[in-house]
Amino acid sequence: LDTNHTDSTSPFERMFEMVYNFWVTRAVYAAVRLAIPDQLASGPKTPAELAELVQAHPRSLYRLLRALASIGIFEECEQGRFRSTALSDTLRSDVPGSLASLVLLELGDSHHRAWGELVHSLRSGEPAFDKAMGTKIWQFFADNPEPALTLDRAMTGLTMLVVSDILNIYDFTPFNKIVDVGGGAGGFLDAILATQPEATGILFDLPYVIENTRAKIVETVADKRYELVGGSFFDQIPSGGDLYLLKWVLHDWSDDASIMILKNCRAAIAENGTLLIVDTVLPPGNLPAAGKFIDLNMMVLSGGQERSAEEFDILLTAAGFRLNRVLPTKSSSSVVEAVPVEALTHT
Ligand code: SAH
Repeated sequence: LDTNHTDSTSPFERMFEMVYNFWVTRAVYAAVRLAIPDQLASGPKTPAELAELVQAHPRSLYRLLRALASIGIFEECEQGRFRSTALSDTLRSDVPGSLASLVLLELGDSHHRAWGELVHSLRSGEPAFDKAMGTKIWQFFADNPEPALTLDRAMTGLTMLVVSDILNIYDFTPFNKIVDVGGGAGGFLDAILATQPEATGILFDLPYVIENTRAKIVETVADKRYELVGGSFFDQIPSGGDLYLLKWVLHDWSDDASIMILKNCRAAIAENGTLLIVDTVLPPGNLPAAGKFIDLNMMVLSGGQERSAEEFDILLTAAGFRLNRVLPTKSSSSVVEAVPVEALTHT
């Protein structure tokens, strides 16, 4: 789509393009679902060859490829073949930073059905996911191993998009023991520890997530400098760290639940420790921010939300932390740094 609007583009044309974007994302989803980007990694193929490989209807598949090639995803080349492009390669499953799993997760069955019930969320204040899928999202992932693995891979891909920027703007050298709370597949902790040869870490997440991560580590890298600990951050968080990370965690949760997680971090953190929250920090008013749509995704999926700096401040204060500073990154995520304040009162 041509997003280089001149003043002559009418509001009606711009609105039509927004509608059209729905078809674009459905087409991208279908291409990834059929693993077309993977199939084209070995070289250009005709729609008929591809259709044979992925069990598709040749003419229909051709039309999908033609549409996607019109926006730079694939390219029609000689003898009616299609080849990969830089854009389609982001959707290969085997490239570092692959966005294939993100597409399968965010545009796939469960999330697509949840978004179909957005109006239900608006009327009721409840996550549409629960109505569409008949279960809460974290229960859904606990009960469905395949989507749970897709979530881990999707978060790993997204993490690779933002991590070098976070490492550039934030100095991790003062820290010896880093606890990643809700750390998922460990991509963030991996990247930090790779730059901090003396530091160790704890990757903390739900037990089944930790078991998936453990299996992956055995397959690939044997001697990681972190412990894997399974549990719930609503019960207890491993203590003794001087840096606690909450990346893309608090936005999944209501204010009350977020305060519980933060209080458990407060109970675990060293007195001179530091807490980093990585989430979008919403700018006020009409300022554009991807976080404002990520916020709707959270409304639909989990009943969570994106927050402004003031809203993070309120949560942190309620849990015994003080917000120190907010560091924006080039991506939609910011780094919110907080430190423990008054001695913890047990409730
Ligand atoms: N921090 C990771 C993952 C973010 S997704 C990253 O940035 O890539 C949110 C994570 O919270 C998931 O890994 C999920 O398993 C974890 N989570 C959800 N409920 C949890 C709970 N009760 N205790 C611990 N972790 C939980």
